[in-house]
Amino acid sequence: MPFAAICADLEVPRDTVAGWLYRTRDKSRSQPDLRCPFCTEPARAVDDPAWYAYLLGMYLGDGHLLLTRRVPLLTVACDLRYPGVIAEIEAAMLACGARRVGHQRREGRDAVRSSWMHWPCLLPQHGIGKKHDRTITLTAWQRAVVDVFPGQFLRGLFHSDGCRTENKVHAAGKVYAYPRYMFTNKSADIMRLCQDALDRSGVRWRMCSPIQLSVARREGVVVLDGVVGAKC
Ligand SMILES: [Zn+2]
Repeated sequence: MPFAAICADLEVPRDTVAGWLYRTRDKSRSQPDLRCPFCTEPARAVDDPAWYAYLLGMYLGDGHLLLTRRVPLLTVACDLRYPGVIAEIEAAMLACGARRVGHQRREGRDAVRSSWMHWPCLLPQHGIGKKHDRTITLTAWQRAVVDVFPGQFLRGLFHSDGCRTENKVHAAGKVYAYPRYMFTNKSADIMRLCQDALDRSGVRWRMCSPIQLSVARREGVVVLDGVVGAKC
């Protein structure tokens, strides 16, 4: 039946009919997006769990998932002083399913951005408001990934909300400097995830304040130097 005849027959505006036809022909609805491990039959594990663990750590630190657009937009902000970290965020997004990654540089920061319908499938922690104002719990499959790749998860967390600094201690007229790692986050849930991953990696930590954690013991710093290192 011709399009005009359908509209006339139904007594429905052309735009509405076009909308119905368009939606039923929409590729994203009629064909599963094979890049999403959860929307294919059968569902599978994430394709690159090491990169996923890193992206999850980054997202929980400085990431944001905007769902008010037609296509969800994942943004991870990073200081322009760390081009190596920016490149790593982009690589992680691509490894997890992004087709394209963009950059929005402003006021010394780069917002690394990627639009994809399936970011909410991969990052179900999205929600309204700030992360520290809501409960953040990992799903069973996310916990499994983080348990296998705690180092990559810590790398993401410390690349976003952490740093490696020289701590100076004055003693007996001398100044001693030793490296330490700090992680700062207002969410008690995210802090707990960081502590769990450190425990799993055999790294001793202590809290400097309710929102700041420190790893200062030599053995722990050596472990984190292996999986995190200084941001560059
Ligand atoms: Zn999906």
